[in-house]
Amino acid sequence: MIVVMKQGASEEQVQHVIERIEQLGLRSHVIVGTERTVVAALGEKRDGAKQALETGSGVEKVVPILAPYKMASTEVKKEPTQVTVRGLQVGRGHIGVMAGPCSVESREQILEVARIVKESGAQGLRGGAFKPRTSPYSFQGLKEKGLELLALAREQTGLAIVTEVMAAEHVPLVARYADILQVGARNMQNYPLLEVAGESGMPILLKRGPSATMDEFLLAAEYILKTGNTQVMLCERGIRTFEDHTRFTLPLASVPYLHQTTHLPVVVDPSHGTGKASLVSTMAVAAIAAGADGLMIEIHPDPEKALSDGFQALTPHLYRQAMAECRTVATALGRKMGEPTVP
Ligand code: PEP
Ligand code: MN
Repeated sequence: MIVVMKQGASEEQVQHVIERIEQLGLRSHVIVGTERTVVAALGEKRDGAKQALETGSGVEKVVPILAPYKMASTEVKKEPTQVTVRGLQVGRGHIGVMAGPCSVESREQILEVARIVKESGAQGLRGGAFKPRTSPYSFQGLKEKGLELLALAREQTGLAIVTEVMAAEHVPLVARYADILQVGARNMQNYPLLEVAGESGMPILLKRGPSATMDEFLLAAEYILKTGNTQVMLCERGIRTFEDHTRFTLPLASVPYLHQTTHLPVVVDPSHGTGKASLVSTMAVAAIAAGADGLMIEIHPDPEKALSDGFQALTPHLYRQAMAECRTVATALGRKMGEPTVP
């Protein structure tokens, strides 16, 4: 349920509602909006709770939350959430770009890519140190060494570092180096990981599971929000279908759909979404046109030599071109993207 306070309701009145919610055995979650404050009452449905809360002073009305996800829903919070970390702004008219290699491979590689990313006007550097690979014989990432290299790249560029955390027990380690914890597609429904990642208080990039429905995706985000962490980005990265002309199928309708159903910012990853470098730029532009608040893009100085996902990595040249096209569309639609410092 949502308790909608009257315009101008006092802090004491809000506090009283919170106490009543807790006395009823429910959890409270306050959202201070531009016009009025609402207090969400979360938990099992209780007989008489609606009536009990309705009588509180300063309360305008009590309405049920229809969506199965509560804190993620636009029913509870209408204003879009913006995720902000270092110079990266994702949401509310700002398109945040997180680009970089699939995996951190060496000091030279990550520092070179970081420079390219920075010069392109992007504000986030992606790079896997712990890699979820289909085959146990494939490169598994440089692990802590990779995290150290990412931190070095941040020191040199000021870019926000986004990197995957694959297990709950790795959260403290990855959180020491990263600015944003990425929960990968394969782990979208790893609930203990979502909770521990959420409790770290760090911004989270949650990738959609390849077979997850939108409700499942949003309920996964709800696990993070329930820890009190509001800095959550949803990342559409493609789903499994019968199609085999692309690695995954990238359903861009999920962007406007998510904007209707949740206030969380939506990022699109056209690299995994297509699995083909030749399709990435066009789908990045299309993602911006569909309303994406951010992009995650894989790039590599020499894709042929990449230790993972080279087939979907843009070269620096194609990446710069893609960013220029995305910026044209973003500007036409009244949204902002970082400007390149080197033409
Ligand atoms: C990645 O971003 O490198 C990655 C492994 O992505 P996903 O979890 O979407 O497969
Ligand atoms: Mn990858």
